Amino acid sequence: MARTISKYRLIEEDDSICLGISAGKDSLVMLYGIYQYNLKHHQENPIIGVIIDEGIEGYRLEAVQYVHRFMKKHQLRFNLIETSFQEHFGKTLAEMVGIIEKNDLNMNPCTVCGTIKRHILNKVAMQKGATKLAIGHNMDDIIQTLIQNIIRNDLDKIGKNLPHKSSELDLNNGKKKKRYFIPRIKPLSRLSEHEIIKYCQFKGFNPIKELCPYSLNYPIFRRRIKNFLDTFEKNNHEVKYNLLNIHYRLYDLLKEQNRMEPQKFNYCESCGQPTGSKRKICHYCELKRLFDV
Ligand code: SF4
Ligand code: ZN
Repeated sequence: MARTISKYRLIEEDDSICLGISAGKDSLVMLYGIYQYNLKHHQENPIIGVIIDEGIEGYRLEAVQYVHRFMKKHQLRFNLIETSFQEHFGKTLAEMVGIIEKNDLNMNPCTVCGTIKRHILNKVAMQKGATKLAIGHNMDDIIQTLIQNIIRNDLDKIGKNLPHKSSELDLNNGKKKKRYFIPRIKPLSRLSEHEIIKYCQFKGFNPIKELCPYSLNYPIFRRRIKNFLDTFEKNNHEVKYNLLNIHYRLYDLLKEQNRMEPQKFNYCESCGQPTGSKRKICHYCELKRLFDV
């Protein structure tokens, strides 16, 4: 992870880092690794953590307590901000799933959850003056997204995001004073899920293993891709690294051949955050309207 951070200059002097945290394995490895890296290279860089309670019965509370214990045990000293869907969005995920089911809406809780989480993390990071937002996506997550985009024939998306960070496009529109979007970095992008599990065992971390109930109830496209890749990997251990490398090569090729349309975007009329060029309001604000909050 330290090599990934250095190689791609994910953290530089004067960066203020916001960590999106859960109590899962990726999150623990990321926060431990970034803390140690910062201690060694940029001791003055401020770090904050954000943990978001989605509002799923009995799911997140234990995780928050666990992260506090983990930080204490490993002497990780930074401010951990606890917030929730209820506080920012005005409804819990459980309430929204109730509405989805009652009205037979064709929506996946993970899509709703991901949209709201991304928005809250960006907002809190902005409010706290962060310059980088670190998220715990590992190599498996990244190549699953790659395969998903290939299956959907979505070359644009492949060319928009490097595996180790979000778009290079300046979504802040060159406006230095008012930021709209905090660049997201993925320090675990070169570590497979398997390596992260092994590292947790080696360090004696005991991440919370309890799965979100919605991840079990709703079979999703991504899980099928994960199973497919895991099956392949049993016979060829290089398959995931090869796919990650192909991701970089595709990105470079697309850039070189100038096949990517310059990425256009609008600012949401409701909340001011960047959104698609054809949209007036962002997905988050659309969900607010849908769920009447
Ligand atoms: Fe949210 Fe649960 Fe889906 Fe994760 S599995 S994105 S916590 S709904
Ligand atoms: Zn909005």
